Amino acid sequence: MKKLLIWDITSACNLKCIHCYNAEKYDGKRKDIGKTLTLQEALDTAEKLHYGGFRRVLLIGGEPLMYPDLPVLIKFLKDRGFTVMVTTNGTLLVSQTLVELKIDSMLASIDGATEKTNDEIRGKGTFLLATENLKRFAQIVLEKSVNTLTGIGFVVTKKKVRQNESIRYCFCL
Ligand code: SF4
Repeated sequence: MKKLLIWDITSACNLKCIHCYNAEKYDGKRKDIGKTLTLQEALDTAEKLHYGGFRRVLLIGGEPLMYPDLPVLIKFLKDRGFTVMVTTNGTLLVSQTLVELKIDSMLASIDGATEKTNDEIRGKGTFLLATENLKRFAQIVLEKSVNTLTGIGFVVTKKKVRQNESIRYCFCL
């Protein structure tokens, strides 16, 4: 079985979701966490992971698209045969670079079936931005005929479970 690493590549994020488990980082209360690796440190880490038998990496954050050298790191990982998955908040998902790098999956976080539910949790305007960006991303995936699994992820809460349409929404995007 391929070992999987879930890699918090950066603690930087452009949002401040109310349920964020990394919230302490953005409040600056903890000085001992949140250091972002330089590109060289990240590449060295990837090399060690490869030698350690890891072959699957899920890049998260913070917001992974805020890691400035993300495309370089992904190419490095892909060149070594890693399966590379990215989970993003979707608001910065505007370039086609990730499609061209042939990442294996792209999940955008959308917390709720409606703009109201999502934006209460993730911030005003995030629902429209993330859904539009994800649709555009999926369109580029289709145009370029790459095998990037594209979808949404969400945190299940009591409030959202009551929104039956959220499940249907998953299949309609
Ligand atoms: S997008 Fe993710 S990392 Fe950023 S604040 Fe929201 S839950 Fe936290």
